[in-house]
Amino acid sequence: MSVETRLQFTQGLNQPIQVQAGTMAWIARHKKMLVEVFELGDEPTDWHWTIHEKLNTRSVPASHGLDRVPARESDAGLLTDKHVREIAAAHRLFLDAMWARFSRGSSDPLDGERETITVEQAAEFWPVLTLSVEVPFWRWTAEHYHNRMEHAFSVMLGIESQGEHFDEDPLTIRQANAVVRVFSRWMDTHDVRLEVPNGRDQLERIDTGAYDWCQFCGAIDEDDVRSEAADCERAAECPLRALFAADEFEEDDAPE
Ligand SMILES: [Zn+2]
Repeated sequence: MSVETRLQFTQGLNQPIQVQAGTMAWIARHKKMLVEVFELGDEPTDWHWTIHEKLNTRSVPASHGLDRVPARESDAGLLTDKHVREIAAAHRLFLDAMWARFSRGSSDPLDGERETITVEQAAEFWPVLTLSVEVPFWRWTAEHYHNRMEHAFSVMLGIESQGEHFDEDPLTIRQANAVVRVFSRWMDTHDVRLEVPNGRDQLERIDTGAYDWCQFCGAIDEDDVRSEAADCERAAECPLRALFAADEFEEDDAPE
């Protein structure tokens, strides 16, 4: 899998470009936020490690399922899990937007007000575009796990997601689901059991009730439980079929 191959691999601009008006202002705001939050110094080459360090510093000992908050006064500068997730989400949104604005093809003319970015201006802010703000694994919530697995799932299906490409023949939905299942043993610390319900194409969580499970039927979307359970090969043992009164199915089976 090639990782974040877009802005990070380019060396800035070699000629001025026209972008949607407000782009420079957005970059300046975003840079200011990162500099303040991560206390970045004047040397952009140090930024990556400064950010990595801050993201990985625990504010209080790990407490499963609870957001960590600064416990002591001296911890006040440390980032809570919630804060880290918000910053990472904002950074992802920022990079996606910048990628869209900078990579417009000539067949896709720019509407509305525009502004010019010079080569010198780009050189000034380019380090911001190369930064990675990833939520460390130990800070992941169930939602974050679902979100990251959806991303990996898309990539495995051959769909470019957030700058990543699979670089191999795409997997089928069932194969990609199986890979997610293999890694869930180590990564699904919140026990959300992601599965693609039969006949569907999205990963769903069992803890939200989005699907139900029968060892014979497999994962069944919450909206399909009745119809799928009616077809279960092992009707007598099917836990989903047991949710319905037997006569509901008898009516279905009755001759017309
Ligand atoms: Zn069943």
